[in-house]
Amino acid sequence: MQVSFEFFPPRDNAGQSSLDNAVQQLQVWQPQFASMTYGAGGTSQQESFAGAQKLLARDLATASHITCVGADRETVQATAKQFVAQGVDHFVALRGDSPDGPYVPHPQGYAYANDLVAGLREWFTGTISVAAYPEIHPQALSGAKDLAFLKAKMDAGADQIITQYCYNTDTLLAFAENLQKVGITQPLLVGIMPIHDIAAVQRFSARCGATVPQSIGDRFAALEQTQDKVKLAIDIAVEQCRQLMENGLDQFHFYTLNRSTLTAGVLATLEQPPVNMALSA
Ligand code: FAD
Repeated sequence: MQVSFEFFPPRDNAGQSSLDNAVQQLQVWQPQFASMTYGAGGTSQQESFAGAQKLLARDLATASHITCVGADRETVQATAKQFVAQGVDHFVALRGDSPDGPYVPHPQGYAYANDLVAGLREWFTGTISVAAYPEIHPQALSGAKDLAFLKAKMDAGADQIITQYCYNTDTLLAFAENLQKVGITQPLLVGIMPIHDIAAVQRFSARCGATVPQSIGDRFAALEQTQDKVKLAIDIAVEQCRQLMENGLDQFHFYTLNRSTLTAGVLATLEQPPVNMALSA
């Protein structure tokens, strides 16, 4: 099993200490890399530089997310070069979303992530990861077109894929099979988002085209105590990771939300054999 952790740039002192604590607690799991988001939730470029710097300062292999929305090519390239000058050798290359209304490409910009990957590959020799959507990107013309554009990102020079989180494991496994059908052979890192707050995850999922199965909502609705909800969140993620590993998918990218409890709980549980195996050993 290999893991990576995603963080976002904090905006105030309380956020800084949450990030510091989360990074410190999670670093012991020796991630393949740690990534810092860019522009998501309205964060500024300076906040992303500072966030990436924090990961680099802890000697973590650091990936910077970079988006091409709302900027011309020159500006995007200058930003990428600034990250590289900082010591970053891995980009998660993304289109991003327009802050209000439907996405409109910048007239002098990279229109889609495949164009951004090609632009970075003109000079960048480090790792490039790209995003993929097992439940299909909400603005995709069709599932087949979404997959074809993902293939275009790989053909432009991307090295690996990180998925949007997806709580339906069958959907994830079908997606992995579809990748093979269209000739995508690069590593697939499955996004795992342990559920810290079911209502918040349901709201966010509705915006980004992911679904939270009714059965998961029902399991949380039956609980009142915080500690029971924490245990359930860990159980759900552990169950999913185990099923994925049984099917050959063993690279997990945790959306940590700058918190460590759930991710560390999942990893600690995965390190132990499942109870029935332990009993029969
Ligand atoms: P693309 O691959 O460009 O695809 C976007 C849409 O356009 C899809 O519907 C696709 O089917 C279609 N499309 C693709 N190429 C073409 C083409 N050539 N012609 C026509 N249509 C095309 N957002 C942030 O702002 N900051 C972040 O740090 C960030 N990190 C993320 C990390 C991960 C792992 C994931 C899964 C998402 C992240 N996002 C982030 C969100 C992301 O920016 C949005 O999901 C965005 O809507 C799509 O980005 P993309 O790179 O997948 O776009």
